Amino acid sequence: MSDVQRLLQGKIPGAATGIEVKKSICAICDPLTQCGLDLYIQDGRIIKVEGSKENPYSKGTLCSKGASTRQYVYSDDRIQTPLKRVGPRGEGKFEPITWDEALDTIASQLKQIKEQAGPETVGFFAGYAKFFRPFLKRLAHSFGSPNYMTESSSCYQAMSMAQKLVFGRPGGPDIMRADCLLVWSANPFHANPGNGRAIQNAKERGMKLIVVDPRVTPTSALADLHLQLRPGTDGALALAIAHVIIKEKLHDQDFVASYTYGFDEYKEYVQAFTPAKGEELTGVPASKIQEAARMYASVKRAAILPSASSVVHHTNGVQNYRAVFALAGLTGNYDVLGGNLVNPPSFIHTPGLIPTREHDFVQSRPWSDMPPRIGADRFPVWMDIIDEEAQAMHLPEQIRTGSPYPVKALLGFGLNYRMWPDSEGFRKSLEMLDFFVNVDIFMTDTCKYADIVLPACTSVERSELRCYGAGYIVFTQPAIAPRYQSRSDIDIIYDLASRLGLDDPLFQAGLDASIDWILEPSGITAAELKKHPAGMFVPNPIKPQERKYREIDFATLSGKMEFKSKVLEKYEDKSGHAALPVYTPPKYSLEATPELAKDYPFILNTGSRLPMFVHTRTFRLSWTSSLRPNFPSADMNPTDAVRLGIRQDDTIRIITPKDAVSVKANLTGMVQPGVIHMYHGHQAADVNRLFEEDYLDPLSGFPGFKSALCKVEKADERVVL
Ligand code: SF4
Repeated sequence: MSDVQRLLQGKIPGAATGIEVKKSICAICDPLTQCGLDLYIQDGRIIKVEGSKENPYSKGTLCSKGASTRQYVYSDDRIQTPLKRVGPRGEGKFEPITWDEALDTIASQLKQIKEQAGPETVGFFAGYAKFFRPFLKRLAHSFGSPNYMTESSSCYQAMSMAQKLVFGRPGGPDIMRADCLLVWSANPFHANPGNGRAIQNAKERGMKLIVVDPRVTPTSALADLHLQLRPGTDGALALAIAHVIIKEKLHDQDFVASYTYGFDEYKEYVQAFTPAKGEELTGVPASKIQEAARMYASVKRAAILPSASSVVHHTNGVQNYRAVFALAGLTGNYDVLGGNLVNPPSFIHTPGLIPTREHDFVQSRPWSDMPPRIGADRFPVWMDIIDEEAQAMHLPEQIRTGSPYPVKALLGFGLNYRMWPDSEGFRKSLEMLDFFVNVDIFMTDTCKYADIVLPACTSVERSELRCYGAGYIVFTQPAIAPRYQSRSDIDIIYDLASRLGLDDPLFQAGLDASIDWILEPSGITAAELKKHPAGMFVPNPIKPQERKYREIDFATLSGKMEFKSKVLEKYEDKSGHAALPVYTPPKYSLEATPELAKDYPFILNTGSRLPMFVHTRTFRLSWTSSLRPNFPSADMNPTDAVRLGIRQDDTIRIITPKDAVSVKANLTGMVQPGVIHMYHGHQAADVNRLFEEDYLDPLSGFPGFKSALCKVEKADERVVL
């Protein structure tokens, strides 16, 4: 073997091999992660993928999904060209068309619908990825529609809503400086590895770790204290912890006296939540509740790490999370270093410590200039609190009923109907649209209902702006040419803006000029960023500052941290939304519906993540799916399985009053007896069809995905998955 052959075999970059290493980022999962990639390219093709050591966030690491980047990019079932539907909706019959024909058709259809029915009858929806969201929202508003929606209508926004109801401005956990971290139903080792690493490092320097989670997870395994509550009882647990803190005078009395509203009523309300009562309601032993309260409230700096969806995926979710976040105010740990620190988002929810004009860019038109958003009548508190978007959970009903106004067209980017409760119901609503476009990397079941399908490219084939914490920012450039005829979602948005003839100077000026405009306060330009393909630190990062509330009022109606919400006081009589963080059991539960629980005795808890899958994005990859061969499956406790005569990998039926799905049984002590846990999104066993369309938190509109009732049967062996 020659030297060059040896170098080629080792995939060694250099002139002799023609292999070069290009920088990119992985966007398979959450925008808060996005690990750096080193892509080894030969003849325009990726031949090897490594984590980029230069990325200060991921530091050279990749999870199993990112390590499968080549399978993701070179998957055989990528959409190759723009497509026009030629068969009935859902059948999947399309014919290829040119980009010009596709974009001209979309522009003329949207203009016609706007003229005939009004701009609000066109919805703009962003699923995954997330990098183009500011641009899609600006497109919606420039078009005149208030109906920009995202998957955050069932992820993140209700968590943000709960924090805003308490503090006005959300605060993130400052893990690096915390003496104690209270992780509330989050498992970063599967969902956000950067936070997982931060927790491990902090533990090594002595930080105490309390984990609240109904399941046993890698995070709970690291904990000093694991509070394994029954799903949906988070509020009761938080109120019981508050009871101990107040009774033992562990709260920050100066902060409470000077900066809070409604403490006396809150204090009176938590009187009833003794540790014994907490144990009765949550299943967590009273002694552990006391220990957690003392551990969290006694240290100097304690932070709460919330999850974007776990706690708010309950019909009582926002009230539960208000009770949790109230603990940060009660102990004076809000907006302090080592507590829950307020750093404004720089770009797409990331508190990057980089000054930007993202908000002004996306909210190019005030809400008052546009008709009410989808969900405005049903979720008025959302409209008061959430500035970002319409409540997309109401979309299927509004398409179906045409009330209060019709929705005639949808421009979807990564729209997946399986994300909604009663996913089958939404699938049927899609059939009622006059015009539906979906942009995606792969031909999904949702795409089969679209009139036009457009092929999107992956993160390694496009440019993407990304802010990380600590003032680090990257504007990636394509590492390889887009496969087939795929294009960046942002290029599609800019092309549509042009063909729609929108009078918007930033769309007319182009992407780089728009990025320059957004980043203007940071002093960084798109041209400068292009010189640093692995990213760079901005010269003037925002310095983290604590206790800003001493100078600037809380962004609440009272100007203080609110144990009792003044916004909810407005709705208390009309809608029954309690102004205190009152605990009620989940809508379907042994406590609220004992008759139903006789027939459906298990708690159905769905939607957490496995390390190799993120939603439906990596089910199709052979590397990732080989790590969990018995999928789709549901986790059940072995004691329940023995009682029902179910063995590992038996086919079982999970049945709710709404519907049933068949899956493999996965017997594990990770779930408590009496709880069935199922992962979501799989085509062959879509668990969201088991939920009724209106099984929602009435405050936020978030689905109660994590606490419904079900029964389990061993399936007839003839059932084929
Ligand atoms: S999928 Fe994995 S490698 Fe990719 S950004 Fe997420 S955590 Fe990082």
